[in-house]
Amino acid sequence: MDILWILWTIPSVIAVEEMLMDSTTATAELGWTVFPVSGTSENSWEEVSGYDENMNTIRTYQVCNVFDNNQNNWVRTKYIRRRGAQRIHVEMKFSVRDCSSIPNVPGSCKETFNLFYYESDSDTATRTSPAWMENPWIKVDTIAADESFSQVDLGGRVMKINTEVRSFGPVSRNGFYLAFQDYGGCMSLIAVRVFYRKCPRIITNGALFQETLSGAESTSLVAARGVCIPNAEEVDVPIKLYCNGDGEWMVPIGRCMCKSGNEPVENGTVCRACPSGFFKPTQGDEPCLQCPINSRTTSEGAINCVCRNGFYRTDSDPLQMPCTTVPSAPQNVISSVNETSVMLDWMPPRDSGGREDVVFNIICKSCGGGRGGCTRCGDNVQFLPRQLGLTEPRVYISDLLAHTQYTFEVQAVNGVSDQSPYSPQYSSVNITTNQAAPSTVSIMHQVSRTVDSITLSWSQPDQPNGVILDYELQYYEKEQSEYNSTTIRSPTNTVVIRGLKPGSIYVFQVRARTVAGFGRYSGKLYFQTMTEEEYNTSIQEKLPLIIGSAAAGLVFLIAVVVIIIVCNRRGFDRADSEYTDKLQHYTSGHMTPGMKIYIDPFTYEDPNEAVREFAKEIDISCVKIEQVIGAGEFGEVCSGNLKLPGKREMFVAIKTLKSGYTEKQRRDFLSEASIMGQFDHPNVIHLEGVVTKSSPVIIITEFMENGSLDSFLRQNDGQFTVIQLVGMLRGIASGMKYLADMNYVHRDLAARNILVNSNLVCKVSDFGLSRFLEDDTSDPTYTSALGGKIPIRWTAPEAIQYRKFTSASDVWSYGIVMWEVMSYGERPYWDMTNQDVINAIEQDYRLPPPMDCPSALHQLMLDCWQKERNNRPKFSQIVNNLDKMIRNPNMLKAMTPLSSGVHLPLLDRSIPDFSSFSTVDEWLDAIKMGQYKDNFSSANFNTFDVVSQMTMDDILRVGVTLAGHQKKILNSVQMMRAQMNQIQSVEV
Ligand code: AMP
Repeated sequence: MDILWILWTIPSVIAVEEMLMDSTTATAELGWTVFPVSGTSENSWEEVSGYDENMNTIRTYQVCNVFDNNQNNWVRTKYIRRRGAQRIHVEMKFSVRDCSSIPNVPGSCKETFNLFYYESDSDTATRTSPAWMENPWIKVDTIAADESFSQVDLGGRVMKINTEVRSFGPVSRNGFYLAFQDYGGCMSLIAVRVFYRKCPRIITNGALFQETLSGAESTSLVAARGVCIPNAEEVDVPIKLYCNGDGEWMVPIGRCMCKSGNEPVENGTVCRACPSGFFKPTQGDEPCLQCPINSRTTSEGAINCVCRNGFYRTDSDPLQMPCTTVPSAPQNVISSVNETSVMLDWMPPRDSGGREDVVFNIICKSCGGGRGGCTRCGDNVQFLPRQLGLTEPRVYISDLLAHTQYTFEVQAVNGVSDQSPYSPQYSSVNITTNQAAPSTVSIMHQVSRTVDSITLSWSQPDQPNGVILDYELQYYEKEQSEYNSTTIRSPTNTVVIRGLKPGSIYVFQVRARTVAGFGRYSGKLYFQTMTEEEYNTSIQEKLPLIIGSAAAGLVFLIAVVVIIIVCNRRGFDRADSEYTDKLQHYTSGHMTPGMKIYIDPFTYEDPNEAVREFAKEIDISCVKIEQVIGAGEFGEVCSGNLKLPGKREMFVAIKTLKSGYTEKQRRDFLSEASIMGQFDHPNVIHLEGVVTKSSPVIIITEFMENGSLDSFLRQNDGQFTVIQLVGMLRGIASGMKYLADMNYVHRDLAARNILVNSNLVCKVSDFGLSRFLEDDTSDPTYTSALGGKIPIRWTAPEAIQYRKFTSASDVWSYGIVMWEVMSYGERPYWDMTNQDVINAIEQDYRLPPPMDCPSALHQLMLDCWQKERNNRPKFSQIVNNLDKMIRNPNMLKAMTPLSSGVHLPLLDRSIPDFSSFSTVDEWLDAIKMGQYKDNFSSANFNTFDVVSQMTMDDILRVGVTLAGHQKKILNSVQMMRAQMNQIQSVEV
């Protein structure tokens, strides 16, 4: 990693001088060694008492032999201990007599002297050693005077004193001597100070550096590590200074800064905790700040200030900002009601809590229930621009119920409202809406048409404003005047208009009626009847579909009859009901006015229209696809999340349409949504919506955690109680009852098309029609038949033979689903071929009860498999029947005895008739269970009589342990028994 080396300047700090020797402090004689020794030569250095410039007494050495040639006078200091120093500095104060001022002086007169040093580990010098000469002595320098003086006055009156400093090094022995050599001058050595230099202890850049000895050379730099002062932390590392030869710090590197909660004081040498009422949020050199308004500190050294009670700060509020509080209530709410809508205006709150982000929420309560009880309004009430987070003090609320009392609370909230333990303050206003007619029918479309009729359907008005009593349709031929229009009434939102002219354009308008009267007519829409030619071609094209829709047609006829009877019974006005009676298309038979009915999306001229009408378009940004959970017919099925504005996020299943699809595939794929979107029942899979405006095209449904029922049961073989299984069957029957009531025929009811959620709730799913229409034989479950493909094993015989698909054929399939459930996902009719299944059913053979299946349930299955479809129970009866069993579990105790008679247990055609074999061994071979021959014979099961009486226990006892083999043998045994019974009854 790169280290950032940052150079900082440091304030110049005076170097520390550590004295090793100071001649001026000597009180007694200096007693330095002189050469030549005084006395032998009177003219060498001589110790003399004198005065310095301040007239203090000092000890000096003097020499003045200018008239003698060849002078060589030395004076040597005492031994000076080095004390760790590597470089030594010598400061000399001296005066020198100017040679020219001495009368008759010879040319040998000098004005300089030499400075020497000699290193030694101990004080061993003598008068003769070291020898008085350069080498052994080391010369430091020749010292010359800056100023000489001409009048020597050793009495101290006029003195010109020079000061020179010299240094030398490195020194390494324990100590050293200095020597001064005179070679013919007249001078006085007044003071000698010997010292070394140190860089001082210093605090700089937030770090402490200890006293450091300077290096041996004047140019050497000694590195010193710094340590952050208390409450400071490193910003850049390493923290270093260099001590130079003169005892000066230089080249600072790195630095420390006061931690958060501490500020630098005393010139940055101390980091002090912020005093109470002050805070500092970050590390740095800046000072502590005073706590903002409505906040305080709890201790010294605070890094932030906490808000006082009742005051708050949002995550994004800066710490320097005052703490704020919730706003007061909005003021002066004014309402103005217009039919079923209301405009609310108000004044902003007196106190915004000290914030600028005040917005308003509207709480809507409807108080229509009398006795003072109010409930929150439903999702259908509209708020403009929105209900929550209003920035302007005004909202328009519409789609309220007519003649209803409402209370609106206008809350003021700001950025800290959700931190307050109290609910927001609000002002409320009570209003009562007026009576209002229903709003306009906005969507009307043509369901189908012939040469003389047009079938129209429309959606309920968005705001019915009451119970819709009926609809009024007005129409006239486009070529005619509006005054010639015909008006008909319809209690439902679908009508067939007959008696029209071929190939003519008609103008239609519809309006709804409630107790408040009629709503306004919808806009004019134009539809045209078919011409004769169009009709003939369409018949040829649609032949297969028409055959397929025969069931629906029949139901339609029955419905018409039912309605005629019902209407007549209710004494409808005959003139009015003349059309109404005849024009019902699909109805549930209950004549619930305004009830939505199932409309086949393929009867739409433009199937996209059906998608638009029945499936909510969702913006892809609301959908988060997470993982693939299965493969659908048109692409992957994924799980994911759906977050619609104003709704809670939910887990959903997402069916995708793989890219590269054709227009037909897209239509077929979306047809499932158009169908599903018409249903709303707890046992029918719920459509959340579709995404068709972006890619990929997707269908979003509620998520069913346990996936499809068949694989769920196989994975949990034997894990549920009978009551749990019956509960599942009850749910499926209830969903099917709802679909049958809507005249929807499923055609593919099977356990694989039931989805199970985490609460074991089963829901009918798979409303895709394409399987039946496409000529694709890749899935063996669906066998091609004339005009479409059919799941043979699940389908009623009349539907296989002549495509008579009805709710009664769905009941047959339901019986198969019951069998699948009770056998934990066994394949109906095992490995029999489709043709064998068809033949067996034709010969009145039926599936036997699965293992441990209560007889009441098997009986219900057999009822569903009645050949005559009118004898089969209706789904409503099945639901009632199962409810009874759930209420009286005793009904589920009895297990099925082997029955004979009309509904024989199924004879599996893949298992040969036992009577064509002479031994049990041959029979075992034929049912592909030859490996158990020895087991059978050693347990004495060696005649057909004994074998036909075998129970499951016996099969286990002979050593058949594999579940599949047990079932195979048990079924073969049951079949053997049934065949014996048949033989016996024939013989009887
Ligand atoms: P389908 O195309 O409807 O047959 O779906 C294929 C597979 O996707 C099914 O067998 C399920 O395993 C899975 N699947 C479909 N819809 C859902 C759902 N709503 N929740 C959970 N899994 C689903």
